[in-house]
Amino acid sequence: MITIRTRFAPSPTGNLHIGGARSALFAYLWAKKNHGQFILRVEDTDRAREKVGALENQMEGLKWLGINWDEGPKKGGEYGPYVQSERFDIYQKYAAQLLAEDKVYRCFCTPERLAQMRQKQQENKQAPRYDRVCRHLSDDEIEKKIQTNTPYVLRLKVPEQGTVEVYDAIRGAITFNCQDIDDQVLVKSDGFPTYHLANVVDDHLMKITHVIRGEEWLPSTPKHVLLYQALGFSAPQFVHLSIFLAKAGGKMSKRHGETSLLAFRDKGYLSEAIVNFIALLGWNPKTEQEYFTKEELIEQFEISKLNTANPVFETEKLDWMNQHYLKKLSSGEMFTKMKEMISLNSDVALYKLFAEWFSGLSVKHQESIWHNLKERSKTLEEVAVNTMNYVNKEIVYQPQELIWKKSDQKTTIKILENLIEKIKEFAKEDFLVANLEPQILAWIKTTEWGNGDVLWPMRFALSGEKKSPSPFELAEILGPAETINRLTKAKESLNA
Ligand code: GLU
Repeated sequence: MITIRTRFAPSPTGNLHIGGARSALFAYLWAKKNHGQFILRVEDTDRAREKVGALENQMEGLKWLGINWDEGPKKGGEYGPYVQSERFDIYQKYAAQLLAEDKVYRCFCTPERLAQMRQKQQENKQAPRYDRVCRHLSDDEIEKKIQTNTPYVLRLKVPEQGTVEVYDAIRGAITFNCQDIDDQVLVKSDGFPTYHLANVVDDHLMKITHVIRGEEWLPSTPKHVLLYQALGFSAPQFVHLSIFLAKAGGKMSKRHGETSLLAFRDKGYLSEAIVNFIALLGWNPKTEQEYFTKEELIEQFEISKLNTANPVFETEKLDWMNQHYLKKLSSGEMFTKMKEMISLNSDVALYKLFAEWFSGLSVKHQESIWHNLKERSKTLEEVAVNTMNYVNKEIVYQPQELIWKKSDQKTTIKILENLIEKIKEFAKEDFLVANLEPQILAWIKTTEWGNGDVLWPMRFALSGEKKSPSPFELAEILGPAETINRLTKAKESLNA
């Protein structure tokens, strides 16, 4: 039986995109499901486009999601090295073989000539393509150019007629006309291989059985198929994944908000939620199940259940899923994650504030606050905002806003006076929603006032907002001293 081997092969040209993370996830799931291996390979043949820190970002992102590679950079493996820039001699050997077998040719065209050619093609509304001038040079002409050290690239001899068939596991057979395929450059004039040559050679040498990648690579695949044939290799199975669409339409890109995986982490999404969410973008388990652990995904993932239609990336749905996972955390687990944010995040001020505040609370308070807070927080960032916004608030009261619509100024002053006295009856350790809510509601019943008369000014005094969490939750978050302080200030503003 053959061992299933898949890979994720990013180029270190930018941060790990959330769509790239999904390609990696599917490749990982397929390998794990089949007890095979998942490989990380760095495709750094295009040195000009390389970005400092990109590879680290990509690896950190994969690790955060728990997409651990069996072979790859730093880890090693039987088929290494796993960084293409360390494999140049390998590509040279195959390039020499292709040249000897007349499957590639030297192209001496200068960049200026190619630019002119392209411009003409554009003017004539033709597809941009190398016009194959050098494919027809005589042996003498070639020899002369080599003698004079004229720089050259190596191009693949794409058949001038006929078709190439790409078989994609979810899209079926796709036929490409050879006349539409460019004579792809395989080796650049500096001797560096291009993505195409290195990718094909490595997938072969690393014994990759399934190439799972984004649909944007589909136009390259016929060239790869031809290259596999030219090299005498058998091609792997191809799986081209759909791409994420933005809700506003079009491909999901930076214009629509965050696309970098780690930016989602920094905003307080949980890795379990991200894994679950992206797994369902383009993969349909065909059951009612909505929540999947990584283990369940490994068990249930099937290439045959991948869709070709491009899924819409709905942030609302991600928020909702994140809240589902957030709610499962105990207050201690939530706090641990929050502290992780401080060590991982570049923008830590908010998370630090939260951690300082939260660590000063009793466990009973932490648990009670978390119990209520998770009902209205979708991300860890919101957890911090939904508390710190109130804890650190300087409120300037507008007297009119403190008065319930059916009440008046004098009554509101009296209510606040009485409420302050009532609040003073609670011991600090009992200042919990579970005590505050029933006891204050019961007390209101003994007065001449209704719930609105009391709870509106209470809520407004504590939040400074017309719409905010319940006054009991706010009181619990603020603690007795600050609750009394705000109620007093609110009362004074009415007196003034
Ligand atoms: N290096 C390519 C990328 O940056 C890999 C494409 C492939 O998986 O073949 O996405």
